[in-house]
Amino acid sequence: VPTSRVDKLLGSLGYGSRAEMARMGKAGGIVLDGVDITDVSKRIPVTPDLPARMEIDGEPLDPPHGVVILLHKPLGMTCSHKEDGALVYDVLPGRWRRRDPAISTIGRLDKETSGLLLMTDDGDLLHRVISPKKLVAKVYRAQLARPLNGTEAALFASGELLLENDDRPLKPALLEVLSPTEARVSVTEGRYHMVRRMFAAVGNHVESLHRERLGGLMLPDDLPAGEWRLLDQAEIDSIF
Ligand code: URA
Repeated sequence: VPTSRVDKLLGSLGYGSRAEMARMGKAGGIVLDGVDITDVSKRIPVTPDLPARMEIDGEPLDPPHGVVILLHKPLGMTCSHKEDGALVYDVLPGRWRRRDPAISTIGRLDKETSGLLLMTDDGDLLHRVISPKKLVAKVYRAQLARPLNGTEAALFASGELLLENDDRPLKPALLEVLSPTEARVSVTEGRYHMVRRMFAAVGNHVESLHRERLGGLMLPDDLPAGEWRLLDQAEIDSIF
């Protein structure tokens, strides 16, 4: 189990500087197993159960490094740290935006795409999910402007479909017809505006797009748009 100085651990979780943590410790705001930690240079083991054992200003400690957040992304939010307007990071507690390592999205959804979005501070996990070699399926439901013409599934599956402005053909993708103007599409790559450009390449237009699944992980029905929760290890494993 890794150990960490209390002030360093709390700093990395966004609680404040070393000086601020020293003051908070002296004031009795840092408690582990019911005992005040007044010397914040003390080293403690960083175990997953720390939030159940440690209180900061009377509140359970935030989960330590290795969080995976499942967000039901609503329409209109941007997967960016910098842009104007509503950002997906705004749904998290402010302190979580000052963590080091930082929390970032695992891939991105367009501003006008809704559905399953993961965020994490675990770089290895991020890489495993987005690496095209791992073939983690990203599954979308698309509403289309025009009726499907019956040729799309074969073109998507061909491994030869070229998107505008790309020089490499698309890896085979699956299309399932849900209604004349609705389809479920499963892809393993993560190119810019990919599903919208796939339908543009076959003469159609995506009017709305929603991600419903990532690998074996479904967006749960009981998570409303705009809400998030942490994934447990079994849910994380179910992605792969
Ligand atoms: N494909 C798109 O076009 N947009 C998304 O947000 C995700 C996949």
